[in-house]
Parts: sequence; C-alpha cells; structure tokens
Amino acid sequence: MPELPEVETVRRGLEQKLKNFIIKKIEVCRDSTVAFPTNKKDFIRGLHNSLLHKWDRRGKYLIAELKTFDNENIQFPVEKLAKNNGFLVVHLRMTGYFKFINDSTPPCKHTRIRFFDKNNIELRYIDVRSFGQMWWIKQGLLPNKIIKGLGSLGPEPFSKDFNANYLKKVISKRTKSIKSILLDQTIVAGIGNIYADESLYLAGISPFREAQTIKKNELIKLKESIVTVLKKSIGSGGTTFSDFRDLEGENGNFGLQTNVYRRTGKECRKCGNLIERQKIIGRSTHWCPKCQK
Ligand SMILES: [Zn+2]
Repeated sequence: MPELPEVETVRRGLEQKLKNFIIKKIEVCRDSTVAFPTNKKDFIRGLHNSLLHKWDRRGKYLIAELKTFDNENIQFPVEKLAKNNGFLVVHLRMTGYFKFINDSTPPCKHTRIRFFDKNNIELRYIDVRSFGQMWWIKQGLLPNKIIKGLGSLGPEPFSKDFNANYLKKVISKRTKSIKSILLDQTIVAGIGNIYADESLYLAGISPFREAQTIKKNELIKLKESIVTVLKKSIGSGGTTFSDFRDLEGENGNFGLQTNVYRRTGKECRKCGNLIERQKIIGRSTHWCPKCQK
C-alpha cells in the first residue's frame, strides 16, 4: 500500500505533469471508484471544465483544488479569473495509481477512471484491487466533513503538532503495542507498515513495546526517526516494496533500501543478528531483537 512518501511522490508528479490540465471528458469505467457524489453522473458533471489547479496531500489522501471558468477563453493567472469548484480527493488504497497518457494507448482492464483534456491527453487511474476511491466535493462543502477518514486524521508527521509531548499524551494510557499506535491514522497521518517498522528500528524501540511504557527521551528519538525515514524515502521516490507506481507507471526501482522491512532472516546492518518477523494486528512486523528494546 502506498504510504506517505509514495503518495507525496505521486502528488509532486501530478503537480508537475498537470499544469493547465482542464478536464473536458471523463469516463468512469468502474462506478464503485466514485465514492461521492453517490451518482456518478453528478461526479462527471461536477468535474467537467475543471482545472486541476493545485495538489495537496493529507496523510495518504491526495487533494486537488479545482477552478472552473464561465467561458472557453481561459486566461491566466487563474487565481484572478476563475471560480473555485471545490476539490477532487483521491485515496489510492492498496494498488491505485495514475498514469499520464499522451499517445492514446488503449486502457487495460484495471482502468477505473479516465480524465481527458481538450487535446485528448489523458490522466488515467488504474487500480487492480479496486479499493481506491475518488470524491468530488463541491464548493461550499467541507472535505473533512464528507470523508470520515480524512476528518479524523491525526497530525502530519512533519508538522509541529507531531512531537514527543503530543505522543506522550496520546499513548499515556494505551496498552496497545507501539507498532499498532503508529499504524493508527487518527494518531499520526500517513504511516503504514513499511515506515512503522523502519522508524522503530531506527529509534531502537521494539514494535511489541506497550505504548505507555515508552519514555519521553525514546519518544523524541521516535519522532526524529519517523521524520528521517519518511524524508529519505520521499527523496528516493518511495520504496521498491510498496505496490506504488509513479506517473510513468514505474514501480520504484530506485527505491529506498530498508533495514528491517522484508529482511527476515538477513543480518541486521548494525549488529549482525538475524532480523525476525511476526504479526502485529495482522500486519507482518520486522525487527532486530538485539537492537530494539
Ligand atoms: Zn541489530
């Protein structure tokens, strides 16, 4: 599943590639990909003539700010001449990805939604397992209200709200493992299995530790480790292991080298002990029993 670094890489790609992309045609190939409005015709009508103006990310959600025009004579800068048209929100879930198509390649059977501009350049959304969703939130409605998962997200790992004091407060009475705490999107946004394991390794904390037993100085280290791991991964365009693809459809072959994730039975890069694996809340967890206490 794409996690924060992969979604951020996609966001940057969309922002770069889609300058001045105005939706002129939409083809919904699978109705269930449209989460809101419930009628796909409203989704198509609502997005028609929208400029995908600016892309934001919140946790694993991609949020495009939309602009629309009264007539065909679109002029720039759009800030001055266009009306706001709400937001297009996307969650890629397990296997969703975008592909930018400018040579009319026919869609594969996993294509879910196709957006075209006036030159027939296509932004194609492909999703093998089909858990990904899109919402058009019209002007005046709040994305946080309509999309429950978005409204309940905890702070961004890079924000100043995410710090050791905050962590101390939220885990103070939690008997759950620290690994499951990190996966909880209402506590911190954007961290999934790969980056939870890698951050805990870097911080020297066992994923099985009962959250409330973790001391302040360890939480400071954990916060720093999360930021370090995520930043490094964003810099390298995501990891090889995630099912993520960038806009060219590449499956990160330049990805981040992991220390524990999917290294079961291999030597720890610090101590030489073998990396172990066990499930925590149904998720494969990788760690070094010697380096992580
Ligand atoms: Zn080790």
